[in-house]
Amino acid sequence: MLIVQKFGGSSVANKERIMNVAKRILETQQQGNQVVVVLSAQGDTTDELIEKAMEINPKASRREMDMLLSTGEQQSVALMAMAIDSLGGRAISLNAMQVGIDTTTTYSNARIKTINTGRIEHELEQNKIVIITGFQGVNKFDDITTLGRGGSDTSAVALAAILHADCCEIYTDVEGIFTADPRIVKDAYKLDEISYDEMLELASLGAKVLHSRSVELAKKYNVNMVVRSSMTRAEGTSVKEECKVEKMLISGVAADKDVSRISLIGIKDEPGKAFEVFSLMAKEKISVDIILQSVGRDDTKDISFTVAKSDLDLALKVLEENKERLTVKEVVHDDKIAKLSIVGAGMATNPGVAALFFEALYDAGVNISMISTSEIKISVLVDEKEVENALVTVHEKFKAATASMRKM
Ligand code: ASP
Ligand code: MG
Repeated sequence: MLIVQKFGGSSVANKERIMNVAKRILETQQQGNQVVVVLSAQGDTTDELIEKAMEINPKASRREMDMLLSTGEQQSVALMAMAIDSLGGRAISLNAMQVGIDTTTTYSNARIKTINTGRIEHELEQNKIVIITGFQGVNKFDDITTLGRGGSDTSAVALAAILHADCCEIYTDVEGIFTADPRIVKDAYKLDEISYDEMLELASLGAKVLHSRSVELAKKYNVNMVVRSSMTRAEGTSVKEECKVEKMLISGVAADKDVSRISLIGIKDEPGKAFEVFSLMAKEKISVDIILQSVGRDDTKDISFTVAKSDLDLALKVLEENKERLTVKEVVHDDKIAKLSIVGAGMATNPGVAALFFEALYDAGVNISMISTSEIKISVLVDEKEVENALVTVHEKFKAATASMRKM
């Protein structure tokens, strides 16, 4: 078998952990597999490099930032090759330039276009373990690019796809994907499996375990993905196309505090207004999430929507500037809110799910300011101060309901 193993920053944070991971990689090879390893930078290296840069030039160009940040991964791969060598194994480290990982030109948020497999295959044929830098690529100007924070997951999945690997194992410091953030919800439990679509929702909802782009790629190329811990031998969570959902009401509950709401009050009730508002946002590359329009009255209507906190100032600025053209009477906003979501492929066939969710929010005494739904997700906006309490109550409710359903 050909296996791609990706180890995150915490899994290679110090000498002991590097040696522990080196042993695991060697074991995988000794079981008769070819192994390609993808590594992140050690521990907090990437954050530290960013800090260093900001001390020197807070307006550093993205090109130079990528040049700097990519060094973190290069340290990890070299150290890992040395570790494997010290244990009597054969390994070679390669960076994105040496492999030929071609990306788009966008610095700090590039996308992988193609990967040259020649060098990797050559090294594998020599029975070597090939250790590749995650997070980085090379653009058409022969400049180093990076794939966005957390992008090593995407490097690993892209390599697994192009090499037709049998499995892509993502090793991290948690035992897999949980039904909720275990730091907040004490009785959250690990899922054995989850579908790509559900994982995509959870990844984008702030369940920060996987880079969302990696899940998109895994879905597109049907990569067999497993998330597991490098510190224990637990089985982990397998991410795949279809899962046994019939005995599970939902797969997870997630909270996201990185939201703010903008409301446009008193817009003229005529065709084209929503188009104007959202093309304005698109022009500024501001992603809009939940959108709600009120029923028109007295020839006016209100449109509310959410944006990331980091986009709020820019969004407000362009809306104020275009207030007259948009026929908006008033622009109001709220950045003390959070989004709480339940995700589950079983939702579509279980009519009681929405009712249970809203009942739990009622139990928690939480007021809902906006609701949005999709086939596998229901999200609500609530007060930021109440979101953790709501998360716990909602999780408890679904856990109990799922348990009683299983008894039937
Ligand atoms: N080292 C990079 C980061 O911290 C990439 C990664 O870890 O996936 O974002
Ligand atoms: Mg990560």
